[in-house]
Amino acid sequence: MSEAVVITEVGPRDGLQNEALCLTPEQKFAWLKALAGAGLRRLEIGSFVRHDAVPQLADSDELCRRWLADEASKDIQSIALVANDKGLERALASGVPEVALLCAVSEKFNQRNIRQSVQQSLEGATSRARTAREHGRRVRIYISTAFGCPFEGPTAPARVMQVFEKVVAMECDELVFGDTLGVATPRAVRELLQGIDPACRPKVGLHFHDTYGTALANVMVGLELGYRRFDASAAGLGGCPYAAGASGNLASEDLVYVLEQEGFDTGVDLAALARASSEVLKTLKRPGSSRVRAALLSTGMEPIR
Ligand code: MG
Repeated sequence: MSEAVVITEVGPRDGLQNEALCLTPEQKFAWLKALAGAGLRRLEIGSFVRHDAVPQLADSDELCRRWLADEASKDIQSIALVANDKGLERALASGVPEVALLCAVSEKFNQRNIRQSVQQSLEGATSRARTAREHGRRVRIYISTAFGCPFEGPTAPARVMQVFEKVVAMECDELVFGDTLGVATPRAVRELLQGIDPACRPKVGLHFHDTYGTALANVMVGLELGYRRFDASAAGLGGCPYAAGASGNLASEDLVYVLEQEGFDTGVDLAALARASSEVLKTLKRPGSSRVRAALLSTGMEPIR
């Protein structure tokens, strides 16, 4: 039997938040169903941030309630992003079983993104992680700008480790290194990841962007070093609204294809995933960035052997 990997599909949150056009709640709901139907088991479904900050996700309260009441969500680990205490209140009220919290390594990025110092954001995340756990919720914490910052340049692994150790102390269920700009390269990824205690690695997720086409090469380094949790966004949607030039997330179709070819079990039906992306891209009026999806389309969605 092949070894399992854990994919967190971030398209409905991280993907949509950087798109010019919005999906309706009905379209989002249908997409969540299609993603679950394609075999994805961890879905980041929305974001409890200020409505004016991310209007694309302003319907997250309603969407979460509707999704969590549906049979299709029952065996899915649904996650919502929370940026502050008010957001956590909304997340708890929605019933979402897992919250994603934010912190970053770069001071300047942190100031621009959430108007807080790194220390303040760590204190906020610590408090919110505790509250979420007390309410029986799982907690995932993003460590953004883990490889580079649009304002401060390359991130030194030693600085990442300082933040990482504080996040480990929060006793969260998953810690995610975010390559916010998509500037990580295999060498930088190896340098950071080999410094992590092997006992911690099963809880560490990797969130790569494909700005310079290095996301899958970075995934391979993670796999070699024993990391088994990866984020990706269907069709490669998304980017980062505060990081100019950051292009899309690693496409889920591309990640699934490579993982399966490497002998891992993702549980995902690639053709079903690619079909789900087609519906969303039609509404967003833009092409996706997944090469695997393009290849599948060119072969009439025939499974690739
Ligand atoms: Mg992203």
